[in-house]
Amino acid sequence: MTMVLDVSGVTKRFGGLTALSDVSFSLDRGKILGLVGPNGSGKSTMLNVLSGVYAPELGSVTLNGAAITGMAPNQITRAGLARTFQNLQLFGGLTIGQNVMVGRNCRMSSSLLGTIFGFSSARREEDEARETARTYLDFVGLADRFDDETSSLSYGERRLLEVARALAASPEVLMLDEPCAGLSQGEADDLADSIRQVAAQGISVIVIEHNMRFIMQLVDRIVALNFGQKIAEGTPQEIRANEDVIAAYLGR
Ligand code: ADP
Ligand code: MG
Repeated sequence: MTMVLDVSGVTKRFGGLTALSDVSFSLDRGKILGLVGPNGSGKSTMLNVLSGVYAPELGSVTLNGAAITGMAPNQITRAGLARTFQNLQLFGGLTIGQNVMVGRNCRMSSSLLGTIFGFSSARREEDEARETARTYLDFVGLADRFDDETSSLSYGERRLLEVARALAASPEVLMLDEPCAGLSQGEADDLADSIRQVAAQGISVIVIEHNMRFIMQLVDRIVALNFGQKIAEGTPQEIRANEDVIAAYLGR
């Protein structure tokens, strides 16, 4: 088992509110970790710390043994962590294919963005980015929509597009914040299959999700948060039976 990501003693405060308090966990290559907890327990804040949106007050994050704590989001993406957002962050003015190509940008020369927006001509890189984009769109079932406007997608399809865009960064760790929001159960099941395929390729996955059926069938391990603290960690079976977790969900 190779450890890819190591999160150690992370504390993040917003003014007087401690959103994360001394949280530690690790993630092995090709494994899927579920991050669960009631609303406001710190799940999105953890993804924001891991992806460099926020620097933690205390603690460290290492990727393949190298510290990434405090690095800027684009540096962290290039280092190998890619994510989707709880609130969709797609470019409405771009086509579906172009949105995925933007995700590829961190692996290309700086001229690629110019290519996408039509004021540069790095043909070879553009062709490569288009091909990569098509591969990942195909992966989430949207390849035939490559040249369509992003606005033509349903909400659920936009979630899948965000996953394709994150994958286009060729991450070692893929982080998904509530990917099932707006998906039908059928679409969620398809997404679970896609995530399993991602993990089978050796990519590690962190997924935040309220849909417990989705989490329980998908992940290898679960970290449960409540009021910013880690209250449990274990297999889905262990977490389902954990009294602190049950109390956190029922009793707050
Ligand atoms: P979750 O994703 O588990 O629902 P969050 O990580 O979004 O929870 O939020 C954890 C806590 O931190 C909440 O109390 C939330 O209000 C607070 N919080 C999150 N982001 C900010 C911010 N940028 N400024 C102030 N408080 C924040
Ligand atoms: Mg959240």
